Amino acid sequence: MRIVLFGPPGSGKGTQAAKITFLYEAEHISTGDALRQAVAKGEGLGAELKRHLEKGELAPDELVIGIVAEKLAEIGYENYILDGFPRTVEQAQALDKILSEAGKPLETVVDFEVSLDALESRICSRRVCPACNEVYNINAKPPKKEGVCDKCGAELIQRADDNRESLKKRLEAYEGLTKPVLLYYNSTSASVVKVDASVSADEVFAELRKKLGL
Ligand SMILES: [Zn+2]
Repeated sequence: MRIVLFGPPGSGKGTQAAKITFLYEAEHISTGDALRQAVAKGEGLGAELKRHLEKGELAPDELVIGIVAEKLAEIGYENYILDGFPRTVEQAQALDKILSEAGKPLETVVDFEVSLDALESRICSRRVCPACNEVYNINAKPPKKEGVCDKCGAELIQRADDNRESLKKRLEAYEGLTKPVLLYYNSTSASVVKVDASVSADEVFAELRKKLGL
């Protein structure tokens, strides 16, 4: 299993990646987590990245690529789902180079598609605790007492940008960034599969397994 996963925030791709990797004992490489771990370790590329972040700079491409490459080398370039990388065509090309040098090219690119309506019903039902940051969902994970945090008793709030207008903007921004990367993958040997992520988590999981032949 050598997979890259694409999907907008709220598409549930993190949850699906966790389910697949747990079931098939693969590695879920979340780029955000990998970068945080490298910074926490404080050695080599991680130490370098830390210096950039402390200056308030964005993580430079070559450091992100380097840290992902180290992670892939650690696991022998096999049995993983990459989540949150590559974000640009340059990163995708760099990844292909690393993988082809290892003789283990990418097999599948999964594109999670989610409609604005589905995204809205998922995210607009989100409530957060302003005191302890616990996240709830009035449909999927409601608090025991309506409007009150189970953990600390504070009154729950809805985030100001969890509304249809900002979701639409976030979705458009995501698509603008991702489209060129997906187009790039159409020109490589990796197969690109689309998964409808607007349905329930169980249905998405079933479709994902089917499309991955698992
Ligand atoms: Zn709380």
